Amino acid sequence: MPLYALDEENGIVFAPDASTRKNYRCLECRGSLQKRSGRHRRPHFCHRRSAPQCRLYSKSIDHLVIQTNLMKRIPQLKMERPFPSVLRIADLCWEERKLVLEIQCSPISIYEVGARKKDYSQEGYELVWLLDDRLFNKKRLRIAEEQIRRGSGYFVSLKRSIVYDQFEFISDAVRLAKGPPLPINLFEPREILNRQIPLRQLQERKSSRYFLGDLYDRANRNSTFLKRLVEHEESLLKPLRKDPFYWIKKILLLILEYLLRAATRDYDRNLR
Ligand SMILES: [Zn+2]
Repeated sequence: MPLYALDEENGIVFAPDASTRKNYRCLECRGSLQKRSGRHRRPHFCHRRSAPQCRLYSKSIDHLVIQTNLMKRIPQLKMERPFPSVLRIADLCWEERKLVLEIQCSPISIYEVGARKKDYSQEGYELVWLLDDRLFNKKRLRIAEEQIRRGSGYFVSLKRSIVYDQFEFISDAVRLAKGPPLPINLFEPREILNRQIPLRQLQERKSSRYFLGDLYDRANRNSTFLKRLVEHEESLLKPLRKDPFYWIKKILLLILEYLLRAATRDYDRNLR
């Protein structure tokens, strides 16, 4: 359910300022929208016809709650900020910091993750994913979850009202171990300067920024914490290395990853 819509003059209108008698159009699919509100429901727009291909149509109320909670904490964030040249609408956008936050409460494909990252970086923005931990952060990883965690991706808990990172050990799309939630402060994005932290999870992380309280921040500032994590990681790696098929599996995985990346490139090329 969208919070912003286009009016008849192509102006962007916020749901509380809209009229229930007027006609509006969806920013993403251009479908016809109507304003809805009630005593217990915040004002929003509704698609008049079903539009399963539209991302705003399938957005849940939980998604909206997470979005508005984050906006309360960081007033600089803009909700549903349109990027017309790449046909995207960012869940939350921090223009001064060139940051886009996407809240993910439903499954997502590897292609879509790659395409969104590329589109926003073309606009000069870094994309940070916030994965709803009622769907993600389970023992078996969802499609694209490992890719998101290796990039700039954190978890969000609606129940505890926190955004968090964690130490984890993933092998063959299974989360073999995970540490406690490390609450992070999204208000403080900073550049990553130290790439030499001897933790596999951080060396595999391909983001250029970190936030106060995340795994990088804590490992970089607290050597005792880091030492414990490195030991833990090593103890989890040992039995895997003893597996006689470890290296064969590793090479097969690398080939698979290469093929997937090539397929994503072809897919993107066909989209143009
Ligand atoms: Zn739509």
